[in-house]
Amino acid sequence: MPLTIGCHLSASKGFLAMGETALSIGANTFAFFTRNPRGGAAKAIDPEDAAELRSLLQLEHFGKLVAHAPYTLNPCSDKQETRDFALQAMTDDLNRMEFLPNNYYNFHPGSHVKQGVEIGIEMIAGLLNEVLKPEQTTTVLLETMAGKGTEVGSRFEELAQIIERVELSSHVGVCLDTCHVHDAGYDIVHNLDGVLEEFDRVIGIQRLKALHLNDSKNPCGAHKDRHETIGNGFIGLEAFERVVNHPLLRELPFILETPNELPGYAKEISVLRSLSR
Ligand code: FE
Ligand code: FE
Ligand code: ZN
Repeated sequence: MPLTIGCHLSASKGFLAMGETALSIGANTFAFFTRNPRGGAAKAIDPEDAAELRSLLQLEHFGKLVAHAPYTLNPCSDKQETRDFALQAMTDDLNRMEFLPNNYYNFHPGSHVKQGVEIGIEMIAGLLNEVLKPEQTTTVLLETMAGKGTEVGSRFEELAQIIERVELSSHVGVCLDTCHVHDAGYDIVHNLDGVLEEFDRVIGIQRLKALHLNDSKNPCGAHKDRHETIGNGFIGLEAFERVVNHPLLRELPFILETPNELPGYAKEISVLRSLSR
């Protein structure tokens, strides 16, 4: 089985263009922002463009895509208008995702802005309980966070507590970001097996649906969240070789969010493919 690997792509030229770009760099999955990552505006979907991408994905045997919610989406803000935006944007995004059914929608759980992690967990679960619908085909992924500022989700326990409170939790999974977990203090370089055992014990490994592959500019536990290109940070190429070959991970979609343009992504994809056994 070839790896399912790709990178974050610009959505500015539409759906089909992303599929074609992915193919041009050796990718068989990709990520994209469902709307402006730093604002609220979402372009109207062109149903024909979506249909053309759906055909291409099938024809070229793509794995599952991993869409990304905007960074401004914070369900546990202390401001009502920000929480309202989170509700409105995620509701709309999940409707839009049905144009590309059976894929993933990843979001940053949120920052509790000093209201406390308990309140953050309640508010995040509250949002999911409002937006998830039994009939949806999209699985919503909580991203593991670096623990910068008041981010919720840098401990597996916090993600587990969110999921526990969600009624339609069969529509919920986790996306593990290698830079983030490493920055959060999980030593995936020296103890990948141990970290995955802990994930399984606390969350359940069946919840792990996708990975973001990023090296880190900072040592384990730094809580910084600065991505580095693969092999050039504190995680290192050997650790990525173990990640892409790990029996619990190797069949999951891998998304690069490294500081690169397309040629750099193409190179990282080919290096990681060459390391897979
Ligand atoms: Fe992210
Ligand atoms: Fe990420
Ligand atoms: Zn990050």
